[in-house]
Amino acid sequence: MPEKCYFYMTHMATDTAKNAPANVRPPVVVVLGHVDHGKTKLLDAIRETNVVAGESGGITQHIGAYQATANGRLITFLDTPGHEAFSAIRSRGATVADVAILVVAADESVKPQTEEAIRIIRESETPYIVAISKMDKDGANPAKVRQDLASAEVLVEGWGGDVPVTEISAKTGAGIPELLDMVLLVADLNDLTADPAKSATGVIVESHMDKRRGFIATALVQDGTLHVGDYIVVGSVTGKVRSMEDFNGGTLTEALPSQPALVLGWTSAPDLGRPFRATDIKKVADEWAADSVASAPPFEHFRSSLRAEHPADTKVLNVIFKADVTSSLEALELSVKDIAGENVAYRVVEFGVGNVTEQDIKAATAKGAVIFGFRVGIEPSAAKMAEREGIRIVTHDVIYEVIESFREELSGLLAPELKRNVLGKLRILALFKKEGTKQILGGKVTGGKAVRGCLADVVRDGKTVRLGKVVQLQHNKEDVTEVREGLEAGLRIDITQAQTEAKEGDVLELYEEEKVRQNL
Ligand code: GDP
Repeated sequence: MPEKCYFYMTHMATDTAKNAPANVRPPVVVVLGHVDHGKTKLLDAIRETNVVAGESGGITQHIGAYQATANGRLITFLDTPGHEAFSAIRSRGATVADVAILVVAADESVKPQTEEAIRIIRESETPYIVAISKMDKDGANPAKVRQDLASAEVLVEGWGGDVPVTEISAKTGAGIPELLDMVLLVADLNDLTADPAKSATGVIVESHMDKRRGFIATALVQDGTLHVGDYIVVGSVTGKVRSMEDFNGGTLTEALPSQPALVLGWTSAPDLGRPFRATDIKKVADEWAADSVASAPPFEHFRSSLRAEHPADTKVLNVIFKADVTSSLEALELSVKDIAGENVAYRVVEFGVGNVTEQDIKAATAKGAVIFGFRVGIEPSAAKMAEREGIRIVTHDVIYEVIESFREELSGLLAPELKRNVLGKLRILALFKKEGTKQILGGKVTGGKAVRGCLADVVRDGKTVRLGKVVQLQHNKEDVTEVREGLEAGLRIDITQAQTEAKEGDVLELYEEEKVRQNL
């Protein structure tokens, strides 16, 4: 029996059927806090000392979550530290963590992302514990951390509040057993129950495409039991659980409540943070998926933009749209629907609800897309990745501004309009010689001026024909940049169109072309 089942076994084996708490499930814990305050090191330290490798080959794989044991009880840790993953999951409406650990470094105390984490914890109403980390460091000042937390309205035990607090060092391991005890204590206060006899429901905590194994996702079971062979549905994406693995790479035949399982057998990648449902009846799964398609906003325009074919000379802008909620996304779709221009088009390669994440940057990089966000934030890791990859992200909180930015971006693809600024006229008095594409001629400026570098057209029978560019200009055999009206000039013209011949007596129109940016 793999280690993971230990918790259930002890309960099932020792309790009588009458009061069997077979429905108590392990707590799911998320670790939040400022960057570099030691979240990863804490997760690694717990993993190293509190995980029993079980039957697997012991190959640690980061699948988005792992389980550790403390006092003979299991605790599930979401192992993507930082609030990005947590926020991504919450933005899709799922609740995943039972207990949050707010990590604050003893030497640096409360920092901006600490405050952000506090806000996220409060908004999600997740019970939490403060872990003052890096206690082994010289500059450790836990009293200041407690004080700064109080200023941020987090009142820890002993400081006029009841938020549990521990001092730890992930380096030495000090305080970690106490921290885990506290996690269990907080979990017990919150009465975490589940019914392993039911079909599984839960949330997707990791999802990616593996070149060798296809689509892979980590399903965190929140209730019921997930079995190999079950049909699993996430929105309109279905899979048949072909095989499951734990975070040690060990094979699983079933996953119990609060247990994360790497699931293979998807038809496409399920979204991170989305809830899932499982059933052993294919027809039921198909119905769920169909219901989800029917009830989801169709986003027909976004989708069809992806399928649309364009002539070869059309310039196509690839875009990703993100918005805070589905209705905002629908409003965006409606607004961009009628934006079109000659020889330009756009393709919505991705769209979705929630902050701009690393996943979006990856998609933008793969497709060469610009990301437009409406009332969404940019996850710090995504911002870093975007900078590295040179991905443009434009976010606004006002829909009009998002649309204007989008319109401007698309306008950038329009061929500029050439505006003709006429400089002057010249009557040809003599053709001197023609060498290849160069023609040398002399004439009199009859209006305006001749300017070196300007363009010249032949005006004949009321029509103008492009002749070429004035590459050299002379007056009295001296090179000059300009020759004014009434004076004679020598011109060397680089003929653009081989067929065009200037003749004596022809009038040349001299002009400049200005490229004017077009707007949609
Ligand atoms: P995260 O960004 O919050 O995940 O932070 P990390 O876990 O990556 O830690 C940031 C840095 O602090 C790393 O260099 C760690 O080795 C170091 N660190 C983390 N925990 C401790 C600790 O308890 N003591 C000491 N001395 N260093 C630590």
